[in-house]
Amino acid sequence: MRFPTMPLVATLLALGLPAAPASADDGALLIRNGHVLTMDPGTGDLARADVLVRGGRIVAVGPDLDADDARVIDAEGAYVLPGFVDTHSHLYTTTMRGQFRNADGEYFDTAERLAPSMTPDDVRIAMHVGALELLDGGITTTGDFFDNVRTPAHGEAGLQALDAAGIRAVLFYGGPDKSTRHPIDVAHLTQLAATRDEDARVQLGLAWRLPRDRSDEANWAMRMHERDTARALGLPVQVHVSVEPGPIFDALIARNLLSPDLSLVHATDATATQLQALEKAGGALSLTPISEHRVCYGPTRIDHFAAVHRQGLGIDGNALAGRGDMFATLRLAALTWSGEARDETVVDPRALLELATRRGADALGLGDVTGTLTPGKRADLQVIAADTLQMAGFGGGDPAALLVYSASPADVRTVVVDGVVVKHHGALVEADLPQLRDAARRSAQGLLQRAPAR
Ligand SMILES: [Zn+2]
Repeated sequence: MRFPTMPLVATLLALGLPAAPASADDGALLIRNGHVLTMDPGTGDLARADVLVRGGRIVAVGPDLDADDARVIDAEGAYVLPGFVDTHSHLYTTTMRGQFRNADGEYFDTAERLAPSMTPDDVRIAMHVGALELLDGGITTTGDFFDNVRTPAHGEAGLQALDAAGIRAVLFYGGPDKSTRHPIDVAHLTQLAATRDEDARVQLGLAWRLPRDRSDEANWAMRMHERDTARALGLPVQVHVSVEPGPIFDALIARNLLSPDLSLVHATDATATQLQALEKAGGALSLTPISEHRVCYGPTRIDHFAAVHRQGLGIDGNALAGRGDMFATLRLAALTWSGEARDETVVDPRALLELATRRGADALGLGDVTGTLTPGKRADLQVIAADTLQMAGFGGGDPAALLVYSASPADVRTVVVDGVVVKHHGALVEADLPQLRDAARRSAQGLLQRAPAR
């Protein structure tokens, strides 16, 4: 792992942020006697089994595994799942929490007013704290759409924050704001990409946008240069199709831009024809039910997108969603599905868990790395306790409905990313939370003081 460098470690310590845990623990880890939902279609669930991790990788899943040298994590009576995959977020907005006040402050206006005042340190704090919140709730991978890269130092701060937090991520590197006037600094993105190992826990991508005026060919030329650079570097690309979804989606089709390395976010109003075109091109979808409801792209009807194989769920920013909470996302997706269909029987909780794990990983292009508890994959997993009041009263059978409708981040007892235990006994291991919260509050207050008034 190339980041953080020594000067960064000093900076993080000065900010009260912990340095990165090792990317892969060579010591063995044995998650013992859990009810294991592998989410691997070939293996399914194992009612009482162990997961053995060595060198950051899952090496075996099954009952009564032998590993005398392993550190044992007791999962008796608990559920062991792959870590959740958040396919789309904006972690830099974490320190805008509570500022999106609907009639008294819409999301886009407020975010665009505050974001320009962020210094690289503000970005670092927001993304670090936001990523830790995701980890605390069992989300081990995020696809972060970073569209506030005001300077190269901002870009580096975002990358360093995700490295330090210990989360797996694709950092989609974007422009300096949500408009389409300014170019993305692809020269800097190219430099950063050269510093990343192929198997680094935090990878890069491109946070792309299409010309708001779709007839502006000069802007198209700029945008195509960005996309072509990303493709030449082998980086995945994400694009919002949230404003005027029809024309943006149609422009992607008309210009033959749908491809396996492109994922489309918030295509809530997509037509059957558009979804078929995406599927045919091998592209992916990211749906973010809570934010799509909040800013009214929704309702997010999961069954509407069945034609697209590669799809996952996202948070879309802890502040906009309110919390970095995949359980709440799953619950809203389930309720919208049955509520809109006016049919309780249409919802498949197991299918929702698949979207939050295996299918989300596949949508991010990380299907070989994470998303299932399969030997050979990196060890990204969570242990969900069943001994809380909210989980009490379950007598047996498929636990998928229990997890979708009843579980919450508070039930996540242990989280492992890349073989490293980042949460144990219900608490984040490395983080100095009082200092982090204080840094986040001071950063958020500074933003409000420096940003222009409404
Ligand atoms: Zn977004």
